[in-house]
Amino acid sequence: MASFSLHGFPVSRGIAVGRAHLLKRAALDVQHYLVGQTQVEAEVRRLQNAFAVVHQELRTIWDELPADAPAELGAFIDIHILILSDPMLAEAPLDIIRSRHYNAEWALVTQIDQLTAQFDEIEDPYLRARKADIQQVAERVLKVLTGTAQLLPAAGDGDDAQAQLIVVAHDISPADMLQFRNRAFAGIVTDVGGQNSHTALVARSLDIPATVGLSNASQLIKQDDWLIVDGASGVVMVNPSQLMLDQYRELQAKMQRERKKLSKLKKTPAVTLDGTAITLLANIELPEDCAAAMEVGASGVGLFRSEYLFMGHSGYASKLPSEEEQFDAYRRAVRAMKGRPVTIRTLDIGADKRLDDFEQSTTNPALGLRAIRYCMAEPQLFLTQLRAILRASAFGPVKLLIPMLSHCFEVTQTLAMINQAKAQLIKSGQKFDAGIQIGAMIEVPAAALTLPSFIRHMDFLSIGTNDLIQYTLAIDRSDHEVAHLYDPLHPAVLMLLAMTVAAAAKAGIPLAICGGMAADPKLTRLLLGMGFRELSMPAPLLLSVKQEVLGCDLERVTPLVRKLLRNDDPAAIKQLIGQLAAVPAI
Ligand code: PEP
Ligand code: MG
Repeated sequence: MASFSLHGFPVSRGIAVGRAHLLKRAALDVQHYLVGQTQVEAEVRRLQNAFAVVHQELRTIWDELPADAPAELGAFIDIHILILSDPMLAEAPLDIIRSRHYNAEWALVTQIDQLTAQFDEIEDPYLRARKADIQQVAERVLKVLTGTAQLLPAAGDGDDAQAQLIVVAHDISPADMLQFRNRAFAGIVTDVGGQNSHTALVARSLDIPATVGLSNASQLIKQDDWLIVDGASGVVMVNPSQLMLDQYRELQAKMQRERKKLSKLKKTPAVTLDGTAITLLANIELPEDCAAAMEVGASGVGLFRSEYLFMGHSGYASKLPSEEEQFDAYRRAVRAMKGRPVTIRTLDIGADKRLDDFEQSTTNPALGLRAIRYCMAEPQLFLTQLRAILRASAFGPVKLLIPMLSHCFEVTQTLAMINQAKAQLIKSGQKFDAGIQIGAMIEVPAAALTLPSFIRHMDFLSIGTNDLIQYTLAIDRSDHEVAHLYDPLHPAVLMLLAMTVAAAAKAGIPLAICGGMAADPKLTRLLLGMGFRELSMPAPLLLSVKQEVLGCDLERVTPLVRKLLRNDDPAAIKQLIGQLAAVPAI
């Protein structure tokens, strides 16, 4: 077996060692989880039952064919019944469930992928066309299966040996990533994607080592190849030597020990050496993430990316969550945080985050109908969300955060919509926090450059550095071909951050930072020296950032940061960042 390494962009730290599992597009549309040894036969029966149901369906269609139906129609159904009974379709997936412990949908799609790949190689066009029939039959079975879908088993329910799978795919959308929450996979490798694409962010919040932008990894890596994913350097080693495997396993164990040490900081207040208190908050995608936020001692939720409630698709059918469903999700987050504030960002759909039925402009989605722009174009959808968030505010401290504002009139329109939602709730006698704080995300340079007009109307600000960098440097954050130009230390980015800190301080309104920069321990001293006092990040990174806070002496760091901000030479800036890291703890 050839041994080689591939280089991509590191997006989620940690080391994963395991076997490659290649995921094709179709396979991403169904749920993936590993079933425990004791559930295997039940899962086999679930698939067998689904086949039986479809068999019955097809028989009924056949029996009820009108007398004048074209003869081909009967023949067509006959073919589907034959396909359904073929052992390649009806039995092979059962073996996959038994040997690999895949759930029924995943096992079926894995087998279909293999079968249809063989059909692609057939010369005869008639036989090649049968591929579509196989897919249609499989769709029918999947539809039955998704109706009987079980709740995902808890992490670790599968066998340990089975759990070490590394998913290799051309691309994985942020919505698809939601399916990996159950940790069926130990690592993630994709051909495309940038460091701060939403796919990368979800990998980080799930704490799964990931490397993206490897160009053609999904072609070079074969099913079941051994892989090492180094999520810190972006290197993927394919079929490594035993020596290398041993070295990385040792490194993995060392990291584990370091994490254990860090966990002792959970209850330590985040205060710098000179006594400045820093608020460390968690970014979440779903209410369930609050458990991890509480676990690391976060002071609250600084960013609830509510769009993930809208993107979670169940099987093939999806619909937008109702006001009640949203209210329930927001209230669950509020309750889980036990009195700590929860900042809920309104729907930030568009660009790389899509709703299943959302036709978005293909010309330039990052500059299109995204976030607040989309909400303004869909006022009923926006009002529904606002009411749900407001209602949750009756159960604990909630703040409302508005993404991607760039025009002053968007601010006034948004405030008018919030007032309208409040009036609707008053009319229907529903409770909410009348003084709910409303904040603007600063993630478009236009907003950073015209801050006073935002500050005038807002209770707080939160900088989204992922987009601020994307829009300042004009590079698509999810495009690996320009990922090398994505630079948080670009003088223009630093200038916009510094301007925002100064304007917020002058106006006396709270300012947080919730993009990827806040989650990078190498940048913590820089941000504190610039004046940031509230940082929000994925929970798995919070304690590493806290460690930096605890070791930071602002009296020594601040003058160095001022010097850095006066510099416009990127090389000198990088050197000063190195000096910042070297400032001794005492
Ligand atoms: C950001 O842009 O930095 C941000 C926090 O929002 P998102 O990553 O969800 O776009
Ligand atoms: Mg953003």
